[in-house]
Parts: sequence; C-alpha cells; structure tokens
Amino acid sequence: MARLVMKFGGTSVADLDRIRNVARHVKREVEAGHEVAVVVSAMAGQTNKLVEFCRDASALHDAREYDAVVASGEQVTSGLLAIVLQDMGVNARSWQGWQVPIKTDETHGAARIKEIDGAFLSERISQGQVAVLAGFQGISPDNRIATLGRGGSDTSAVAIAAAIKADRCDIYTDVDGVYTTDPRIVPKARRLDRVSFEEMLEMASLGAKVLQVRSVEMAMVHGVRTFVRSSFEDPDAPQVGIGNLPPGTLICDEEELVEQQVVTGIAFAKDEAQISIRDVADKPGVATTVFGPLSESNINVDMIVQNISPDGQTTDITFTVPETDYQRALKVLEDNRDEIGYQNIEGATDVVKVSVIGIGMRSHAGIAAQCFKGLAEKNINIRAITTSEIKISVLIDSDYTELAVRTLHSLYGLDG
Ligand code: ADP
Ligand code: ASP
Ligand code: MG
Repeated sequence: MARLVMKFGGTSVADLDRIRNVARHVKREVEAGHEVAVVVSAMAGQTNKLVEFCRDASALHDAREYDAVVASGEQVTSGLLAIVLQDMGVNARSWQGWQVPIKTDETHGAARIKEIDGAFLSERISQGQVAVLAGFQGISPDNRIATLGRGGSDTSAVAIAAAIKADRCDIYTDVDGVYTTDPRIVPKARRLDRVSFEEMLEMASLGAKVLQVRSVEMAMVHGVRTFVRSSFEDPDAPQVGIGNLPPGTLICDEEELVEQQVVTGIAFAKDEAQISIRDVADKPGVATTVFGPLSESNINVDMIVQNISPDGQTTDITFTVPETDYQRALKVLEDNRDEIGYQNIEGATDVVKVSVIGIGMRSHAGIAAQCFKGLAEKNINIRAITTSEIKISVLIDSDYTELAVRTLHSLYGLDG
C-alpha cells in the first residue's frame, strides 16, 4: 500500500465525461489498496473566463475579490469529481483550500503556500476516504481566499504530497510525460524517463509550462517524487513503464538518473519584451539609474547586455522584462529620463527567449558555441544572451521560434 497524490489538470477535467475518466483512474488506485488524495484544476478555459470577468468588471480590481472569483473554477470540479466518485461507489469528499487549511501569504493572485497541517487530511484518507482537493487555492492571513498564480494546481499537489508524506505525486496531464521540448512545436520531441529536479526547474522557469515553477521548487526542497503522466490513457490498461512505474517521467534527484546526456531539453518563452536604451552616458552608476527605478516598481529584469563604448562617452543597454510589464517599464524609464540621461529608447515585444538546458554542461565545453553556430547557419540573429552553469538562453525574433527550437533540438541529438 502506498499513499498517493493524483493531480488532474484542466484538459483532464474539461467536461463530465473526462471527469468520469479521471474517477476511473482514482478508482483503480483505490482498488489497488492505496490511500489517495486528488487535486483538481478548473475545467480547461474556465480560469481564463473568470480572469476576463474580473478585468471587464474593473481594470483596477481588488486582488482579494479577483481571488474569490478565479478560485471558483476548482470548487466546481472538486465537487463534481467527489459526486462522480461516490456514484461509482468510492468513498470521497471534496475539500476547499480553507477547509484543509492550506495557509498562504497575503500576495493575492500569486500567493505562496506557507503551511499545511496535513493531520486531519491524513486521518481521513487513512480511513479510506478519498480527499478531492480544489487546487490553485488557499487561505491568506486575513482569512480571505488566495490563489497561487496561473498553473498553481501543480504546486497545490506537491505541497499536499509533502504535507501528508505521500510516496509519490502523480501529475496527470494531456501529455504522457516531460519531453525534450514542447511536443506541440517539435513532433520529434522525445519523452524523458527521468529528469533531475534542477533541470526541471530550469525548463519550467524558461517556459516549459508542463509544471508550474514553484511546484518543482517545492518538490526539490521536500524531496517529493513527482511523476508526470497522461490522464488520457485507458485507466484500466496495464500500468507498465520503466522501473516499476507506469509510462511517464519521474522528476528526481540527480543521483537517480540512469543515463545522462549533455543537453536534456530546449525550452522557449514568448512572454518577454526587449528594451534598448541608446546613448546612455558610459560612467559608473549608470546601471543603477536604469535598474534601480525598475526594481522599485517591482519589474523583474531578466537578460542584460551592455556594450563598452568605443569613445568612452556613451553606450547602449539592452535588457528584457516580462511582456506584461513592458508598457510600465517604458513609462518608468521615461519618467527617469533626466536622471539616466539617454538619447532614445527602443523596444520590441515580438521576441522569444530560447534556452538549452542540461546538467551535463557543467562538465562539457563548447555547448554555447555550438548553439550560436547552429542559429547563425539558419540566419537567425541573436539579440541577447545569458548563461548559467546548466543553461544557455538566447533572445531572438519570435518569427523564428519554431525554426530555432527545431534546429537546436536536432543539433544536440535530441530528435526521437
Ligand atoms: P494541465 O492543464 O494538465 O496543467 P498544461 O497545459 O499546464 O496542462 O501543461 C501541459 C502542456 O505543457 C502540454 O500540453 C505541452 O504542450 C506543454 N509543454 C511545454 N513544454 C513541454 C515539455 N517539455 N514536455 C511536455 N509538455 C510540455
Ligand atoms: N486553473 C488554474 C489555471 O488555469 C490553475 C491550474 O490549472 O493549475 O491557471
Ligand atoms: Mg498546468
């Protein structure tokens, strides 16, 4: 007997038929003798609609009321799944975030989980009752509903798994695992049997939306064995994959990896915008006058490129910000124009950040050079570059996204 958390994303619970399919997956595990907690997302598209309602109601809405509205999608699916399970003869009940309780901080709209007392939940599931939890939500210190940021049900699931000391957290989604890149963009993408926490963290942060970034952080910190698999496989088919696991991808410690490639995957993120400040005085402290006000306005700067000026007089600074903060960033720089002292500002939102990820890069030289050469051969211009120990990111025109991702995927021998 094991203790399992099973998480089902939006497409997996998109309608009643799919919810019935989910219930069959749950029933299978219950009948195998396992203790089960389930975490569900809202039906696909539902959260977007709710977000839209809030925006239409008022551009400057109260974040606490936004949370009250957008958390409702998960309330519906948790209740419906409990009803369907009961109908199949499985003992089940739904739980909202506040009932557990899942305590968060006060950052409404992007709250962090602070604490989960899993005792009550553990007691119920050990008595054989399936707990169906609404993902994406918790309760803030001021006793209000708080949501965890888009894609947050993954984080709910991993946090619950840590709190009830589950043996595994199964993330059921619309793909049968983590691939070398988004299989929707590269049909030759290959499923990975295992990925280290660290690589998964980079892949998620750099745009692979298969897992929310915070869920991976949490899995890494608490050592939660996280397994990504498909909800669309026949629930009653034999569960045979690798190493006593069904087909899917295990996110685990580096030591558990069997074979190690230099490059594990390619990710891309289209939600960045580029800003270039032209002819800034090339003197000490200029970076502070640019990035200080941005940081005070809570705008995250990601890639930064600054040239050395040929004449020691003026230089150009290029950097990226989240696309959602683009207009605000331009305004901040405009407001601080006198202090910074520049000729003009240029910007672009039609850019994409493409990243190559792999822990093997720590011990292999030349990976970056290979990437630049490969892109050059396809005539793809690089606007900015950043690297870390296990990744290289390049900023390019978004028109070249697919070409760049496919080129790099083949170049590093990832094609299946
Ligand atoms: P859910 O609704 O189940 O949470 P998501 O849409 O959030 O599902 O995440 C699954 C999607 O992530 C897949 O449909 C796939 O297109 C996308 N994806 C992006 N990168 C990857 C990757 N490297 N491996 C697998 N899926 C990926
Ligand atoms: N329903 C929420 C969203 O669409 C949370 C999730 O699906 O993980 O972002
Ligand atoms: Mg998701």
